[in-house]
Amino acid sequence: MTKMKKNINLEKKIRLRFPPSPTGPLHIGNARTILFNYLFAKQHNGETVLRIEDTDKERSKIEWVQDIIDQLHWLGIDWNEGPDIGGPHSPYKQSQRTDIYQTYLEKLLAEKKAYFCICSSEELEGKRQDQQSRGLAPKYDGTCRNKNHQHGVIRFIVENKKVTFIDLIRKEVEFDMGLSGDIVIAKNLQTPLYHFTVVVDDFLMQISHVIRGEDHLSNTPKQILLQEALGFYQPIYAHLPLMLNSDKSKMSKRAGDVAVSDYHQNGYLPEALINFMVLLGWNPGTEKDIFSLPELIKEFSLENVQKSGAVFNLQKLDYLNGYYIREKSTSALVKLCLPYLPETAKDMPFKQLEKIIEAYQARLKKLSEITEFTDFFFSEKLSYDKKMLGWKEMGDREVKESLEHSAKILSDAKKFDKKSLEELLVKEATAFAEASASQGKNPDKGKLLWPLRVALSGKEASASPFEIAEILGKEKTLTRIKQGIDKLS
Ligand code: GLU
Repeated sequence: MTKMKKNINLEKKIRLRFPPSPTGPLHIGNARTILFNYLFAKQHNGETVLRIEDTDKERSKIEWVQDIIDQLHWLGIDWNEGPDIGGPHSPYKQSQRTDIYQTYLEKLLAEKKAYFCICSSEELEGKRQDQQSRGLAPKYDGTCRNKNHQHGVIRFIVENKKVTFIDLIRKEVEFDMGLSGDIVIAKNLQTPLYHFTVVVDDFLMQISHVIRGEDHLSNTPKQILLQEALGFYQPIYAHLPLMLNSDKSKMSKRAGDVAVSDYHQNGYLPEALINFMVLLGWNPGTEKDIFSLPELIKEFSLENVQKSGAVFNLQKLDYLNGYYIREKSTSALVKLCLPYLPETAKDMPFKQLEKIIEAYQARLKKLSEITEFTDFFFSEKLSYDKKMLGWKEMGDREVKESLEHSAKILSDAKKFDKKSLEELLVKEATAFAEASASQGKNPDKGKLLWPLRVALSGKEASASPFEIAEILGKEKTLTRIKQGIDKLS
């Protein structure tokens, strides 16, 4: 039995690794894993290594390396060692470390702990089907083990024994390796595969803790046996719970928005995404759900990471994002919203943009929503159905009277700031409602304020007419009311 106690070097410096494979944009699941590694390292004054696991030559692309780096920068996660640009040469890219892996492969071969295997995929498939038809778990039968072939794929001899290790989240975990069969660790001496490169790199990079997704749990005993065969120490393991869709199904790498860059482009803030990701598995044990990165560095603990799957709840992300948007100063929010506004916004005075954004700050859940909320500030003529102008059962004539009344009051208004306009219009709206009520109808301030607000915005829902009028200014406000009246004539 393999016990972790004998292998762990507790004197080791705390060093963690971020090992993404650049076969696509940075996935939110990988970003969560990296975040947990980062927090653990930071709170133990440890170090972090960004290691690009690009052994899959066909699927790995330099643009994805760049995306990984860009999105981690955006999230505010940094690292002590590893590439900072996706340049062609970096000792932290596995594709640049072939010679190193070859040395260790040769060592295993020389010590007869691994061997070349020339079984064809057809033969292997035939054996697999045969085993399955006999009700056996499929595993390699060891045909090439003692044949001394000098070429082929390289298989590592997996001893028939139980491997037990302590996982910081799952406690003691045991695997029966008798079920495994010898595993392929390289396609040839120059093409090592995942299990092998990870084991060699974790050792050479002196990684103390491996924190990764539960999907890697069954890889761990194989890697432990490789560590033993190579005479390496065993790092401490922690396997994070799986991420589940809201219907509890397993989250796919391809479904929906799973790339960090998608969240970034859709107007989520890095603070919100960090806060959201940490709650996918970690529970502070209190009601508190808002955590900044520095707070997390203090408060995070692996002990409070759950074993069961972490359900991905987009409403929670929207809630957190809304919170962080409201926390921004208006001027900071203007800058964040600019990419979502039309080109003409750039010519607008900053003060005016601040007013526009301020009018929507409280209801914004993601930055991209600003486009739709505020488009009417940037267009000359609005297009909307005249029916929208009527409040409840108001007829065209009544709506027209209402708009004419607003036009009169507003053209006489001395002050055009939202506070003065609100005082003025609310008073007038009450009087207008009472006047029509005396004709046997309901007194309702909406009779003045609704048609006005729709005439100014062209929308069912918007900021208040006072805020909009102040931002548009007197001239534009009156033009829009006139355009509304014209629709009714
Ligand atoms: N490159 C692997 C992945 O992206 C890392 C696995 C590991 O942490 O060992 O899943």
